[in-house]
Amino acid sequence: MLTVVRNRVGVRLRTPLRALLGVVLAALAGFAAWRAELDAGASALRAQAAGRLNNYAGALASEIGRYGYLPSLMALDGRLQQLLAQPHDAAAVRAANAYLQRANRAAGSSVAYLMAPSGRTLASSNWDTPISFVGANFAFRPYFREALRGQAGRFYGIGTISRDPGLYFSQPVLQHGQVRGVVVAKIDLSKVAVPWQGWRDPVLVTDRNGVVLLSSVPAWRFELLAPLPASVRRRIAQTQQYTVAGPLRPIGLLPAGHAAGAPLYRLEHAATGPFGVLPRHAFMVNSRVVPALGWRLLSLSDMRPVRDAARRSALAGFAVVGLLESLALVLVLRRRAQVERAAGREALERAYGELEQRVEARTAALTQANAALQREVDERERAEAALRRTMDELAQAGKMAALGQMAAGVAHELNQPLAALHTLSDNAVVLLDKQRLGEVRGNLDAISGLVRRMARITGDLKSFARKAPAAWQPCTVSKALDGALSLLQRRFAHEGIVLQHAFPADEPRVMCDELRLQQVLLNLLVNAADAMRDVERRRIDVSLDAAAEPGFALLRVADSGEGISPAARARLFEPFFTTKAQGTGLGLGLSIAQRILREVGASIEAQATPEDCGAVFVLRLRLAAHEGNAHG
Ligand code: ADP
Repeated sequence: MLTVVRNRVGVRLRTPLRALLGVVLAALAGFAAWRAELDAGASALRAQAAGRLNNYAGALASEIGRYGYLPSLMALDGRLQQLLAQPHDAAAVRAANAYLQRANRAAGSSVAYLMAPSGRTLASSNWDTPISFVGANFAFRPYFREALRGQAGRFYGIGTISRDPGLYFSQPVLQHGQVRGVVVAKIDLSKVAVPWQGWRDPVLVTDRNGVVLLSSVPAWRFELLAPLPASVRRRIAQTQQYTVAGPLRPIGLLPAGHAAGAPLYRLEHAATGPFGVLPRHAFMVNSRVVPALGWRLLSLSDMRPVRDAARRSALAGFAVVGLLESLALVLVLRRRAQVERAAGREALERAYGELEQRVEARTAALTQANAALQREVDERERAEAALRRTMDELAQAGKMAALGQMAAGVAHELNQPLAALHTLSDNAVVLLDKQRLGEVRGNLDAISGLVRRMARITGDLKSFARKAPAAWQPCTVSKALDGALSLLQRRFAHEGIVLQHAFPADEPRVMCDELRLQQVLLNLLVNAADAMRDVERRRIDVSLDAAAEPGFALLRVADSGEGISPAARARLFEPFFTTKAQGTGLGLGLSIAQRILREVGASIEAQATPEDCGAVFVLRLRLAAHEGNAHG
């Protein structure tokens, strides 16, 4: 029992710890899944961006390469050479203009023009348009100065007249090894960026200084990746490279860590990309150099799908491990429940078995007890029958004993009148002989009185000895008491016993057999007299109370004798219980009295009294007035 309690407490204590451990494990699994997915996603994104950047760089390089030859070719043309030799010859100008126009159209470049060593434009393919370069001086452009130094020049900038951005290719026009002029072709690279629009992530090209030259986000064009030092700004301003576009402002890319070895950036300002407004969260920036020009091609890959996938993986990892843990928990709990159920069943079966055994044992014991009880009941019934028989016999025997006692009393009573009769009759004969007739008459009267007295004594004896049937008939207690007293008169007088009695004026009658009541009272009075033998004050009080209890009268017989000890009081009514000397009492008087009273629905008890007081017996007798109801 103790172990069970301890186990339960143990489980209860460990459960929150386990749950916490389970959550931590699931969270770790989620984190690992998130990390792995993020790394894998970022690597894939990087590889994808690198592939695209390669393609775009290739396309850009080939576009540039396509035009690289154009100024060199034009520099060889005689019409341009002619014009340089005679810069003011109108025919030569016309011829050069026409040539440049044709060549420009054929090559697909934006504009082609020839400059004098002073930087002034002598002829141009757009000579006949409102934005004609003829006469304009571009000596400030780096491509011009490079060509003047005898090198091929390349320069990206926005046209100060045309206001179009483009890549300028310049080539010196040599005569006898001397630079006589510079021929320039400008190409528009915007169309290279057209396919970039098809890719969701922004792509852009910057020059060495980080100025965005081309971009799939139109707003970023001619903005800066990062702020420029003042010296660089000054240099750019001198070449009027981007003057037309206005002041160069940074795009606003804030560093946001790394993923798969590539830097991450966040956009400071909202911008519209190829497919709407770009998110403000992290982009992975991949880049590669465009060969020959020193430009840089960049792609900004949206990290959102990678992060979403990583988040989903984290959730999935957490959920899968959590599910597995829950499954394990369910299995463990089920197993435990099974074990507990089995244990419970076993305990129940054991208890049931024990109960059955106990029931069997108890049933056997009960059967035995029942049999024993039955035997006892039979025995008791037999004993009761025997007792009843004995009681009947004893009642008779008791009566006979009382009769014996009475016979002695009667013999004594009769002896004295008999002796007197004898003397009187003898005297009468003598007196008759002497003819003293008057005295004879007196003697005869005395003889007659004595005979009447004797007749009364024998009459009483006869009525007491008769075995009258127990009859429920109204009788008077005082009469029964008188009957009993008449038999004890001599003894009471002799022993100085005083009897006081108090009966109500209209004494109620009780249901009893008068002779039997007389026998009961005789027994009580004899016992009282016996108990007072050794005391000086010998007094018996008899009283009748008809008001104490409805339907009953209480007859109280109290004496001033030695009293009854509690031990004796418990056994008073047992047949043959006596404290009197052998030969003086059979111990039957009270048991016979009790039996007689029971027969007429009455009872008797000895009241408890203080030690130095005599005995008090109370008889509960049924009142005759109520008998009508009880016995019809
Ligand atoms: P017995 O008189 O033959 O002994 P009883 O049945 O009449 O038989 O009385 C039983 C006993 O009860 C007596 O022996 C006596 O000890 C006691 N006893 C009865 N009446 C009294 C009494 N009035 N005072 C003291 N003892 C009594």
